[in-house]
Amino acid sequence: MTAALSAEGLHTYYGKSHILHGVSLSVAEGKITALLGRNGAGKTTTLRSLMGLTPAREGKITIFGEDTTRWPTFRVAASGVGYVPEGRRIFANLSVEENLKVPLERGGPWTIERIYKLFPRLEERKLNRGRQLSGGEQEMLSIGRALLLNPRLLILDEPSQGLAPLIVREVFRIVQQMKAEGISVLLVEQNARMSLEIADDAYVLDDGIVVYSGPAHELAADEARVRALAGAS
Ligand code: ATP
Repeated sequence: MTAALSAEGLHTYYGKSHILHGVSLSVAEGKITALLGRNGAGKTTTLRSLMGLTPAREGKITIFGEDTTRWPTFRVAASGVGYVPEGRRIFANLSVEENLKVPLERGGPWTIERIYKLFPRLEERKLNRGRQLSGGEQEMLSIGRALLLNPRLLILDEPSQGLAPLIVREVFRIVQQMKAEGISVLLVEQNARMSLEIADDAYVLDDGIVVYSGPAHELAADEARVRALAGAS
């Protein structure tokens, strides 16, 4: 199985704080990989390193067979990686439609019309400003914006954060739909139980170290471990 992404031995720092201590992980093509762990374990830092936002000081990153270790973020994104950051980062003063027009359409399967088909709610709200949207609508907009870059790999940082349970279900359903579209997904989540239901593979980070890597169903079967992950959120 080809890897959409693989990282080997990442060491990342914020100034003198050593945050990632040799993180290795891989996202199989066409699969959902969950990256779990309690608050402060280093999940967001891992994603930032993969995107070149906080480059790793040591280690190697390969995305779709290319060594992207020293690539600037725009180049990583342009190579087909859609990044949906924690907190959504939509433009509060722009309308939904204007937010969707920010990424230049690259000519590929995803268009604004298709985003509206996937998220009818966004079409209803297309003239509303970002700040008027609910958390769930903001998440849909953030995912929609990433899809317009026609990514082959989608990296999601805590998409369910702060959402009501019903909306969380909806977001997880959308992630599964991305997989059905052939997009590989790296999903960072606090919601371990639901992530493991939809993920193929899983990693658990603790203090910047990978403490589990394997099939999602095996981790899901380890009740005590899942409870510990959930309890920490
Ligand atoms: P969360 O679920 O809270 O987002 P996380 O697993 O994503 O947790 P990170 O955000 O990667 O964890 O944080 C890992 C560690 O790095 C934490 O100890 C955090 O305090 C520290 N950290 C994060 N951002 C910075 C920063 N900009 N400067 C210094 N330290 C940071």
